[in-house]
Amino acid sequence: MDELPLVVITGASSGIGAAAARVFSAAGHPVLLLARRAEPMEALGLPRALCVAADVTDTAAVARAITRAEAGFGPVDLLVNNAGMMSLAPVVDLDPGHVQRMFDLNCVVPVLLSRLILPGMLARRGGTIMNVGSIAGKTLYGDHTVYCGTKYALHAMTEGLRRETAPHNVRVMLVAPGMVDTGLLGNTGEGEVLDAYLAYKKSIGGGLVAEDVAAAMLHAYRLPQHVNLREVVVAPTVQDA
Ligand code: NDP
Repeated sequence: MDELPLVVITGASSGIGAAAARVFSAAGHPVLLLARRAEPMEALGLPRALCVAADVTDTAAVARAITRAEAGFGPVDLLVNNAGMMSLAPVVDLDPGHVQRMFDLNCVVPVLLSRLILPGMLARRGGTIMNVGSIAGKTLYGDHTVYCGTKYALHAMTEGLRRETAPHNVRVMLVAPGMVDTGLLGNTGEGEVLDAYLAYKKSIGGGLVAEDVAAAMLHAYRLPQHVNLREVVVAPTVQDA
């Protein structure tokens, strides 16, 4: 049987990215895993996995990691732009550093990393980029102004890039999860905003588990190259917001 191609996943040290790493690896793909913390990626214990501790805003470091991974496993066939950050607060209370980091990580990085692998995909007339957006890129939620802004922007750029690459048979997909039980709340400080989020999360049974999203990703990716499931919105059935 032919070897399955290389999958690159950013933000693979926790949550959705770690689940995607497990699911794509279990499906037989070699994986390049990127996040700042190496230990949780290595602890996944996946075969044919290159775990690289890198800040994905350091595009040169990511480029070096991709070169190493491609030397061992062949060209990247799927890039999952998953690394992201959410800091919730009314704008007046939001840490200015968090504003910048959310835009850098949620918007700028997916574009710059796509630029790294696109020339190869365009030349091969195949490959997939999967951007992890959010239902917060479709609907405004209280205290989510900047986070929603980053995800609305990412959704727009995902569709724009899809149109650019469509004539070259390269797929660009959006995966937009609803509430998922992960470490994403780690940047929202204690107080009313966090309490309200947690109360809603509890009221809907805690949200999806990350593996639910990873399974949807694998399903979308496994469709034949001529089929682009452009947008996957995956949320708890009982989530009404
Ligand atoms: P987590 O906080 O569990 O995971 C975020 C991941 O991003 C971690 O692996 C983290 O690793 C990595 N990361 C953060 N900053 C950087 C950086 N500068 N460089 C490299 N890696 C970085 O959250 P989720 O799994 O929930 O989030 C994954 C994606 O899913 C995000 O884009 C998020 O917006 C989106 N999403 C999540 C939803 C949810 O309810 N959980 C709903 C909708 C969308 P490390 O700290 O080791 O660098």
